[in-house]
Amino acid sequence: MSEREPLPWQAAIWAQLAPAREAGRLTHAWLMCGPGGIGKRHFVGAWTARLLCETARGTEAACGRCRSCIQLAAASHPNLLWLKPEVDAKTGKTKRDISVDQLRHLIDRLQLNSHYGQLKIGVIDPADALNASGMNAVLKTIEEPTGDALLILISERPMALAATLRSRCQRVAFAPPPVDQSLEWLAAQASGASVDRSLLAAAGHAPLKALEWLRSDQISERGRWRREWLEIADRGADPVATASAFKERERTALWLADFYQFCVELLKLRLLRSADALGNLAQRLPAPALEAMSSEALESQRRLQQNANPQQLAESLMIAWWRWTRVRR
Ligand SMILES: [Zn+2]
Repeated sequence: MSEREPLPWQAAIWAQLAPAREAGRLTHAWLMCGPGGIGKRHFVGAWTARLLCETARGTEAACGRCRSCIQLAAASHPNLLWLKPEVDAKTGKTKRDISVDQLRHLIDRLQLNSHYGQLKIGVIDPADALNASGMNAVLKTIEEPTGDALLILISERPMALAATLRSRCQRVAFAPPPVDQSLEWLAAQASGASVDRSLLAAAGHAPLKALEWLRSDQISERGRWRREWLEIADRGADPVATASAFKERERTALWLADFYQFCVELLKLRLLRSADALGNLAQRLPAPALEAMSSEALESQRRLQQNANPQQLAESLMIAWWRWTRVRR
């Protein structure tokens, strides 16, 4: 995947936005929104490179050779400022908010005269990491635009932004690509890895998320997780011991997504009356139990996103699973 090219499912948005400057359609503020893992950030990277490129025209991608492209490749372009939450020096963790100081620096830079008379671009990623005063400062900048400055906000949760700020931005909505297109793309990116629909579904149909999982060793844990769930169901293994491995947020998110997928598969197998280990479990459990477990898995995913403690979520889910699988029809 080339960083300068849009992803295959972004072709229509690209055709609209790549020539926006020449066509006089480049407004001062843009809001790129849509679920995580589908390539919004990638698109903004390719688009800003295209806008800054000195030779690309029409729907062409940035050339990769001009002065601007070379500066971008060296991450030293004076006219592109990409703001992200900083990493806390003490804990090594990414902070939740973009600080007012970071934002002030960005706004000051956007208001300076640009180098080479080029466009100046500020990206706020993610925009929902701004606090209320940050959002106000951004709004003020948008209301008093300076010449050739451009502000791009990226957000998975646009509703978390102030309504006034949302309404001042040109909104571009990104959506997950069709399943077949995602699978084709994933197969090309992760050559040799087995790419299946259940993985993509567990990743919320977000192909970049699924690719990240494929490339991480977490995916190799899926087989073991399934064995553990079966051990709880078939032999009454200790649910709290199983849950104790989940302290880390990202890994718990993948585990929860996989457990949800597991429940959905069991519900399907119930109808198919298949006779392997999973099929037997599916026959043994009442459908309401499986439905209850899959909604509990979804609810846990939601609560994890709202900052609930991963291990407590994992424990209550596994205890519920242990209880339901003790029920005999
Ligand atoms: Zn170029």
